Amino acid sequence: MHDIKRYLVPVSLEEAVRAAAEGDATLLAGGTDLMPQTRTGARSFSPTLINLKRVPGLRGVSRENGNIRLGALTTVTDVLNDVLLREAAPVLPETADHFASDQVRNSATIGGNICNASPAGDMIIPLLLLDAVVELASWNGEAVETRSMPLEEFFVGPGRTKRQPGEILTAVRFPVPGEGFIARFVKFGTRPALDISVVSIGVAGVKENGTLRRVRMAFGAVAPVPVRGRTTEAAVEGRPLTAETIRQASEATQEDISPISDVRASAWYRRELVRTLTTRILNDVSTS
Ligand SMILES: Cc1cc2nc3c(=O)[nH]c(=O)nc-3n(C[C@H](O)[C@H](O)[C@H](O)COP(=O)(O)OP(=O)(O)OC[C@H]3O[C@@H](n4cnc5c(N)ncnc54)[C@H](O)[C@@H]3O)c2cc1C
Repeated sequence: MHDIKRYLVPVSLEEAVRAAAEGDATLLAGGTDLMPQTRTGARSFSPTLINLKRVPGLRGVSRENGNIRLGALTTVTDVLNDVLLREAAPVLPETADHFASDQVRNSATIGGNICNASPAGDMIIPLLLLDAVVELASWNGEAVETRSMPLEEFFVGPGRTKRQPGEILTAVRFPVPGEGFIARFVKFGTRPALDISVVSIGVAGVKENGTLRRVRMAFGAVAPVPVRGRTTEAAVEGRPLTAETIRQASEATQEDISPISDVRASAWYRRELVRTLTTRILNDVSTS
């Protein structure tokens, strides 16, 4: 069924990155993407399988130096129930609430959702709204080395990221949102929660006197990677959130997306959904 020759369960980050540096390894977190993909033959295991679950310090949410940090092994259930996130960035628990089922949420990790790099990865959308940065660790031959990059730049294409062989995603962090920050996430699937998104949309910004500033829009499942909607953002930035602004923004979405037709929906339907959901989500923001 598979060609796994070695199964490793490292108990420190150093042990994990040293093992990953030897090459030809598959990293396992919750397995909710990896196991179905290997079972269907969509991908195969490398000779070494490294289970990250026992690496200390990779799970949990913390506040550090004005940032909120989610360890890569933080599960979707952890996000849903986290008190700090509920207070400081409720869009993350709200998104977790629309993610799969309890059973999947208990295993699925934030790091896995990001590294799987699906254009439809739900947790990526609120993280783009929050200007998140990913942290990657590797073994440089003598010590553990880390680097960071904006989440927006991390994705290269469906299933492909800028993570180098041997690198482990250790965390994702974002600045603690300031006063007046609001964010919303909406997902359309054939079922409300148990399905992969046909389209997902996020909006965020600071609301002041009926306008939205520092606007962030993000779209899932409508481009090769989850994308920020910069044309849409410009159509909303600093303008009164009137029906006309919302209409123009909904039209502007069409510049930001490049959907394809697949088993879930046609490209035409996805475009219509993005228009409709953007109108809905901006109306919600304007009245909240
Ligand atoms: C029934 C079902 C429903 C689902 N519903 C949803 C949904 O509603 N929304 C959604 O977005 N997704 C959904 N998914 C997909 C999946 O649950 C998520 O993408 C999940 O977050 C993956 O996390 P994981 O820990 O299980 O990753 P894994 O399967 O363990 O790993 C996924 C990929 O990331 C790599 N990886 C994992 N962790 C790291 C790390 N720390 N560093 C480097 N590489 C790493 C692995 O090598 C692998 O390539 C669903 C899956 C199933 C089976």
